[in-house]
Amino acid sequence: MKSFCPSEVIVEGGSEASPIYRNLKRALPGVPFVHVADIGEAFSTSDDPFGEHKQRLVLARHKGDFLKKCPGSDGQVCCNYFVINFASNCPMECSYCYLQEYLADNPALKVFSNVDDLVAETHALLSRHRGFFFRIGTGEITDSLALDPYIGFCKEVVPFFAEQPNVLLELKTKSDKVEGLLGLDPKGRVVVSWSMNPQRVIDADEHLTASLEERLAAARRCQEAGYKLAFHFDPMIEYPGWEGDYRAMVERIFSVVDHRRVAWLSMGVLRETPGLKRIMRRRFSSTRLLSGEQVLCPDGKMRYFQPLRVAMYRKMLGWIREASPTVFVYLCMESREVWEQVFGFAPSCEKELGARIAAVTRY
Ligand code: SF4
Repeated sequence: MKSFCPSEVIVEGGSEASPIYRNLKRALPGVPFVHVADIGEAFSTSDDPFGEHKQRLVLARHKGDFLKKCPGSDGQVCCNYFVINFASNCPMECSYCYLQEYLADNPALKVFSNVDDLVAETHALLSRHRGFFFRIGTGEITDSLALDPYIGFCKEVVPFFAEQPNVLLELKTKSDKVEGLLGLDPKGRVVVSWSMNPQRVIDADEHLTASLEERLAAARRCQEAGYKLAFHFDPMIEYPGWEGDYRAMVERIFSVVDHRRVAWLSMGVLRETPGLKRIMRRRFSSTRLLSGEQVLCPDGKMRYFQPLRVAMYRKMLGWIREASPTVFVYLCMESREVWEQVFGFAPSCEKELGARIAAVTRY
């Protein structure tokens, strides 16, 4: 993955005492730091504000709650997951990224400085519900690791999560920025996961991300350092020859990592709202992702026709089972009908799926 070097770091008043500020100052010695009383609204005169905002980094206090329930998608089976938003937006550029629409009115690439509040809020929740096993991810509106060499977030929070008896923290990424994790002891409480696609898809639609081999090398290093791993085949893309590419990718993954240390795999096909499609047409006009046939689903997202989705998932599941007969596999944002056709069952509710995933990973 290419190194990230912002044109400037904008620091909101009250963030200078944060460890994130100190880490940024150390990691970006040649970058100007601009101090402002209030960051206000993200402002741009560019005809691509979303792309422009990826060039500079904002450090500010987060004023609301850090933790929330993953919103999931209407009518789809959900996996009872919680998210912590420690940052917003991402320095990489995937053509299909839903943040282009979700953050259209607030596109600043922002990191939150009050990590102490994040830890206090999480500790309060985990302590209140010691009988419940939480899965918490940080990759909902940012990439969990792409900024880590500069902000040092992992070294500030992994030691806290490592000591909690009822949580698994998932760090989800398309980068290879794992150095900050390697010297820490996760004590079985941290899963590092990669969104995976064949190199052909990465080249065409996952700009500025790590290559497939770089992601795998990083996964191997994390596994050797004691982390659990996970992989998300999401978004799966259908194109002429996809079967050969995805099958080879699955085989390659399991030739590099030990399948017994893989906590889970997920599968999900490409999905976009009509609004996101319009943005993609403007920002990535040559992407072939706009040309495939899709149907509008009850959650307002466009997906491939259901029979095609089921066929894709069944094929992937077959290749996964050849390499790892026992690894836990689930579908992301899919309907009960699709679950039933792929696995022969559908979880009765989100708690059941969450509990199944927790059961295979908690020890
Ligand atoms: S890595 Fe994830 S968050 Fe970043 S641009 Fe790609 S899809 Fe969006």
